[in-house]
Amino acid sequence: MSEAIGFIGVGNMGGPMCRNLLQAGYELTIYDIDEEALKPLVELGATRADTPAAVASAVEIVLVSLPTPDIVRQIALGPSGISSGNRVNTYIDLSTTGPKAAEEISAALADHDIATVDSPVSGGVSGAIAGTVAVMAACSEDHLARVRPILEVIGNVFHVGETPGLGQTMKLANNLLSATALAISSEAMVMGVKAGLDPRIMLDVINAGSGKNTATDGKFAGAIIPRSFDLGFSVGLMHKDVKLCLEEGTAMGVSMDLAATVGDMWDRALDELGANADFSEIVKCVETRSGVEVKLPD
Ligand code: NAD
Repeated sequence: MSEAIGFIGVGNMGGPMCRNLLQAGYELTIYDIDEEALKPLVELGATRADTPAAVASAVEIVLVSLPTPDIVRQIALGPSGISSGNRVNTYIDLSTTGPKAAEEISAALADHDIATVDSPVSGGVSGAIAGTVAVMAACSEDHLARVRPILEVIGNVFHVGETPGLGQTMKLANNLLSATALAISSEAMVMGVKAGLDPRIMLDVINAGSGKNTATDGKFAGAIIPRSFDLGFSVGLMHKDVKLCLEEGTAMGVSMDLAATVGDMWDRALDELGANADFSEIVKCVETRSGVEVKLPD
């Protein structure tokens, strides 16, 4: 018998995760404010609910993949939120919200006898489609055992800690590195191209050498040199992640000097490109100031 679960937020990440869960035989009840995002999943057999509470009254386990901590808070605890559902007992948050929000939401849901599996992911839209994202679960061993089969459809599961919030700290550390790699690689690639180097040869050398990172190994060749800028992760979301990381690190008394400079660069990207731009477009902030584009030679 297939298990019935709920999924709220079926966007760039949630959409393909839902497809994989349907494919694996789960019965899905879904909710999103975007009708267009719901349609293809309903065609594949998912059931549409009218509120988060309706999802949480239909199933015991509800996953969410939502943009910001405020939206996650509202969906979990607001009017007609998950906490108002009468069947749910386990809440899995795949979003990046930061540890503070995860701890608050988890404590509030515990008052409604709902357990939290703090479980942010990394690996991008391509990883969500392939079912290979890194899943950073923070919860008790017992709760992880209960939800592991679901998380294994989504990606590779790492049990990073017992308490909700630790998954978020893990994710913010990861995304600080990803955000930094893209920003600093933009400067290095623009410098090389301005001097006359072919960007493809630059990537071949860097990726065979010690400069290799997550931006040079995939993002430049896949989305920047072809000027497609289609990685499916927005400037607004990466800006949120870097800011959450800076807030948490600073609050903990960690020295975050380089992270602050990276944060300035993502502030600039948000101002100049807008929240909906693809995060690979940050290279344009360096290009416009330098008078050269990282593209194939004419
Ligand atoms: P997205 O904006 O593509 O999808 C979010 C979905 O939530 C959308 O379908 C939107 O309509 C829906 N939504 C927004 N507000 C809502 C509300 N009030 N009620 C119901 N639905 C609502 O975002 P995404 O790229 O899929 O990211 C989701 C989460 O995963 C974010 O926290 C992000 O930081 C994280 N993440 C994204 C990526 C990526 O590469 N895109 C990678 C790892 C983690």
